[in-house]
Amino acid sequence: MNAAGFTDYYDIDGLLTEEHKLIRQSIRDFVKKEISPSIEKWAQDNHFPSEIVKKFGDVGAFGPTIPTEYGGGGLDYISYGLIMQEIERGDSGMRSTASVQGSLVMYPIYAYGSEEQRKKYLPKLASGEWLGCFGLTEPDHGSNPGGMVTKIEDKGDYYLLNGAKLWISNSPECQVAVVWAKNEQGRIKGLIVERGMEGFTTPEIHNKWSLRASCTGELVFDNVKVPKENLLPNVEGLRGPLGCLDSARYGIAWGAIGVAIDCYESALKYSLEREQFGKPIAAFQLQQKKLAEMITEITKAQLMVWRLGMLKNEGKATSAQISMAKRNSVDMALHVAREARQIHGGMGITGEYPIMRHMMNLESVITYEGTHDIHLLITGADITGIQAFK
Ligand code: FAD
Repeated sequence: MNAAGFTDYYDIDGLLTEEHKLIRQSIRDFVKKEISPSIEKWAQDNHFPSEIVKKFGDVGAFGPTIPTEYGGGGLDYISYGLIMQEIERGDSGMRSTASVQGSLVMYPIYAYGSEEQRKKYLPKLASGEWLGCFGLTEPDHGSNPGGMVTKIEDKGDYYLLNGAKLWISNSPECQVAVVWAKNEQGRIKGLIVERGMEGFTTPEIHNKWSLRASCTGELVFDNVKVPKENLLPNVEGLRGPLGCLDSARYGIAWGAIGVAIDCYESALKYSLEREQFGKPIAAFQLQQKKLAEMITEITKAQLMVWRLGMLKNEGKATSAQISMAKRNSVDMALHVAREARQIHGGMGITGEYPIMRHMMNLESVITYEGTHDIHLLITGADITGIQAFK
């Protein structure tokens, strides 16, 4: 740990500005006060604490990179990454709420929306007055979103929307949904659908063993009349949703490191306190191997996302680079969580420690926003020029 109490084996703090460190500290304090004391209970009870939405707005967790004139933070991508890292250190479900709102709802409205849409929606989303969700995945189209069948028909003064989306974070509690659907020409368009529009429902998905403090549901569109002005005018095709996913995946690449750090710190502390055979278990080589490998992998991932953040600040990060970092961080964090679970022995399966909750959460994180396999194939396609997933 560094002097400020952060796991930082390679003095990555030396690469951060004072502003970055202040932002990180303020989110860390927020998580300690507003999330950590209750998260085990929320997760055990499968409860989404809807009051957290306004609090996230107040602390600046929604849309950190969106310009301030629309209510965003106007911050750089390193700040955004640090915010996601600290929130996910608290819980991946909480980070999901924040990154869906910022990257998958505010970002497309900012990047592809009209000035009227930006002014109407972004300040309310930034402040947490409204919660948004992002509808891309369908029951029969997950890794292959281009196959979507949700459709819009131009009816003159409105679009008629029909179809369904599945596995949508925030959907049961949302006021607005950014939805991707095909028009009569088979082209993918984005629309802003508001709660209250006739024919629009958001049934909740129950019985999850993962992300239990985050609400997940469906979006069902049964002849929904969407006003023409709710179409995102400045994008067409799969590049629309994929652009949003780049931003969210970037946040996950940082966020998962927060989980890994939490698991590592808990395991290190536990191994120094827990005695067996007359000495701390940290004295045994097998436990040291686990801990040493954890901190090595965390450090490699920290350096990777820092460099990716600098590339993003310069507008140079590619989608394939983001895929690599998302995949690496989540896989690394899941491995760290499993090893930490073992170091905690039987205690590791209880809610006394955050490990098992993190581990179960990561089983979603490794699947959503592009699965582990698909991200590997994106790297494969990038380096060979041959797409193996189509
Ligand atoms: P499938 O695509 O059916 O994949 C199943 C398996 O097959 C995977 O292992 C996959 O890697 C593999 N596979 C598929 N195609 C290939 C291929 N070509 N080559 C090799 N292997 C392949 N979606 C949203 O739109 N919005 C959200 O807010 C959202 N939130 C979510 C929250 C949670 C908790 C979860 C679990 C999912 C969420 N999703 C969301 C959906 C998520 O993005 C999808 O689950 C994901 O894209 C995978 O789709 P699928 O589940 O249909 O799996």
